[in-house]
Amino acid sequence: MANAIKKAVFSLVDKAFTQEGYVLEVRKWEPATMYEIDFHMPETDMAKWNTIPRIKCRVAEFEYRDYTPATWDAEKKICTVLIETEHNGYGSAWAKNLQSGDVILFAPAHAAPLPAKPGKIFCFGDGSAIGHFLALKQLTDRKNYPLEVVVFLNETYTIPDTFLTANPEFKFIMQPQGHSLDSLSLVAEKNPLSAYTSVYIAGYIPMVQGLRKMFKKNQNFSAKLFAHGFWS
Ligand SMILES: Cc1cc2nc3c(=O)[nH]c(=O)nc-3n(C[C@H](O)[C@H](O)[C@H](O)COP(=O)(O)OP(=O)(O)OC[C@H]3O[C@@H](n4cnc5c(N)ncnc54)[C@H](O)[C@@H]3O)c2cc1C
Repeated sequence: MANAIKKAVFSLVDKAFTQEGYVLEVRKWEPATMYEIDFHMPETDMAKWNTIPRIKCRVAEFEYRDYTPATWDAEKKICTVLIETEHNGYGSAWAKNLQSGDVILFAPAHAAPLPAKPGKIFCFGDGSAIGHFLALKQLTDRKNYPLEVVVFLNETYTIPDTFLTANPEFKFIMQPQGHSLDSLSLVAEKNPLSAYTSVYIAGYIPMVQGLRKMFKKNQNFSAKLFAHGFWS
């Protein structure tokens, strides 16, 4: 009985996924566990994406995962997402199987606000948050919102030159045996965050909580904090 109710609820949720998108291209960052995927979303008005967006994707029967449009072209209705896939999960399996021409089902939604005040922004996150910070970059201008991003990766990736050239604000720490909270805490200790107006943290939930706690304890920290846990 409980299963029948669960199925009925999920099929209602499924009906909410009214938008269809199409996979245009899939690229991989070597060693091929970071997937960069272009979607064409003909029904989506991306011009309305004026906060950091997310798309809730149907990744398997009764399974949904959130991903962040990292960059988008509102006229062409094309966006790109970056998905970490080195772990086992419905979302990672879905991303690894996507091929050009595949149809996806999704619902677009808001993920996080932009800074209310201009000023320097510092971002701390892991691979799942690269899209979140790229979206923040697309939605703010560098003159009023100078941006610095540090991303912890638990793979030694060959980051595409195109990415590094287009995004000099991004610095990567690649430590397969490391821990995101330890590494990012060290970065935070070395940077005088009192000079920043906004600080964003996103990704692994214990890392987000740990950094948040650390900043809240610091009396010199006066930035507006935007903390978003993605997975645990
Ligand atoms: C607002 C929002 C935006 C998000 N945007 C992105 C995005 O742009 N790109 C992205 O990759 N993810 C993003 N996520 C996370 C994503 O929704 C999934 O939670 C994540 O991909 C894991 O789903 P899964 O089914 O693959 O694994 P799950 O079934 O959820 O987890 C399986 C196992 O894998 C581990 N695991 C899960 N994710 C990771 C990871 N990234 N690295 C290492 N181990 C992991 C878990 O601890 C667990 O043990 C976002 C989440 C939110 C809430």
